[in-house]
Amino acid sequence: MSRKIIPVADWRTMLRDRATPDLSGAPVPANGSLTDARARPLRDLRISVTDRCNFRCVYCMPKEIFGKDHPFLPHSHLLTFEEIERLARVFVAHGVEKIRLTGGEPLLRKNIEYLIERLATLRTPHGKPLDLTLTTNGSLLTRKARSLRDAGLTRLTVSLDALDDTLFRSINDVDFPVTDVLAGVDAAREAGFESIKVNMVVKRGTNDHEIVPMARHFRGSGVVLRFIEYMDVGSSNGWRMDDVVPSAEVVSRIAALYPVEPVAPGYRGETAERWRYLDGQGEVGLISSVTHAFCGDCTRARLSTEGKMYLCLFASQGYDLRALVRNPDLDDAALSSAVAQIWHARDDHYSESRAAHNEAGQIRQDDARRVEMSYIGG
Ligand code: SAM
Ligand code: SF4
Ligand code: SF4
Repeated sequence: MSRKIIPVADWRTMLRDRATPDLSGAPVPANGSLTDARARPLRDLRISVTDRCNFRCVYCMPKEIFGKDHPFLPHSHLLTFEEIERLARVFVAHGVEKIRLTGGEPLLRKNIEYLIERLATLRTPHGKPLDLTLTTNGSLLTRKARSLRDAGLTRLTVSLDALDDTLFRSINDVDFPVTDVLAGVDAAREAGFESIKVNMVVKRGTNDHEIVPMARHFRGSGVVLRFIEYMDVGSSNGWRMDDVVPSAEVVSRIAALYPVEPVAPGYRGETAERWRYLDGQGEVGLISSVTHAFCGDCTRARLSTEGKMYLCLFASQGYDLRALVRNPDLDDAALSSAVAQIWHARDDHYSESRAAHNEAGQIRQDDARRVEMSYIGG
């Protein structure tokens, strides 16, 4: 059966899950140089491979909302590995150089190693392998670090919000011990990962007293610890500005004990500010998603578990790429054209406008409709 390319105007009805951008322009060729309405290139893609998780972190999947009766997606709604690979190829042709697998908990997705093997074979238009990484809560790493590394994963981010066991168990809310996550980090080191990062979300009054113990623990270990400002993602975590510990405060608390100096950013769109210990014991990263909006350099698209493309972490709706992938009449050129036109019309800059609204003392009207972090991935 020969496949046909449907006209550009038809995207409007097929992608109707959000306000439709003007898709009337000519298709943009896939030559790695796609830019959005604010001249931002498409460089990163986060792919959520499951909406399920074995943790119930109180700020991400609180039990009251994600309880036993929560309707997680049925398997048939998930993008298959073949569909993910096909879409990833399209994104890479348009300039994506970095792919991060996330979730939910990505290591819960059966045979995730197979997907990693496939993605590791992709090459950018310049013939370079992708920067392929995965964010995990670390709970399954002692079992899986070796097979992930063997599948071709070279970089890993482990989320860990506290070293204190009682506190950690109360944050993950499933009584998971901190020693098992630390053993997972060790297993990743033994498996030979080139880069291991640990991400700590800091919430005032909950775990900010763990900033210095965490810094002390990971100093000199080769693992880069990154502090993330607690964000107003989703609408289930009851976020308040008072909960945020600004990155500047995190740096000064660390510097009081261990002097640090700033490191110049490595590339455009690097989300973390880097600080180096003056005594040569490595560096820490600060992700200031709230106090320092980096929308101007945001080169990231997100693909949800069921194949919706989101242009911003704070978007309330996505574009249904699964409908396109599962349409037997559409070939890769058609997919490519759709992705190009969606990105081309992108104007999202939530954090910048949040900052402006905060200054003006206003509350954004669309706050209650945002997508949850566990669905779209961090
Ligand atoms: N389950 C995996 C994990 O925890 O690493 C991957 C998915 S999780 C949604 C990705 C990251 O988002 C985690 O590091 C988590 O701490 C972070 N996160 C979740 N809710 C957040 C929030 N409100 N503010 C900042 N980071 C958040
Ligand atoms: Fe699960 Fe990660 Fe969310 Fe915690 S932060 S509930 S581990 S998805
Ligand atoms: Fe990117 Fe949206 Fe975050 Fe701005 S608010 S940096 S556009 S994800």
